[in-house]
Amino acid sequence: MSDCIFCKIANGEIPSEFLFEDENVVAFRDLNPQAPVHVLVVPKAHHENFVDNVPAETLASMEAAVRAVAEKCGIAETGFRCIMNTGTAAGQTVMHLHMHVLGGKPLGEGLI
Ligand code: C5P
Repeated sequence: MSDCIFCKIANGEIPSEFLFEDENVVAFRDLNPQAPVHVLVVPKAHHENFVDNVPAETLASMEAAVRAVAEKCGIAETGFRCIMNTGTAAGQTVMHLHMHVLGGKPLGEGLI
């Protein structure tokens, strides 16, 4: 999608440092981190959200990216939180599927 910021980042049009990349996804640090580790895992193809017909191989790449990011950022053992806001009521502001990976501090027990 031509005016989508995450399409531009994922496809290299806007330079960004990737913590993980394969043929389907990239992972990069959130511009406005909410925790010491706050990384976004983003598919290269444009899907609006998690329930927008995302291919199984893309979902598998997202899982691989989360594992790699957790290892790389030192949160694999301590634990971390994965969040996918889906729709504006849930707080989604960028309408290109992305998974937040948050960690590096105690995150509390609640869901929100
Ligand atoms: O789930 P939500 O859509 O609200 O998350 C979007 C996230 O994308 C925000 O955490 C925001 O800081 C991040 N962002 C970014 N780089 C941009 C635009 C947004 O990291 N250029």
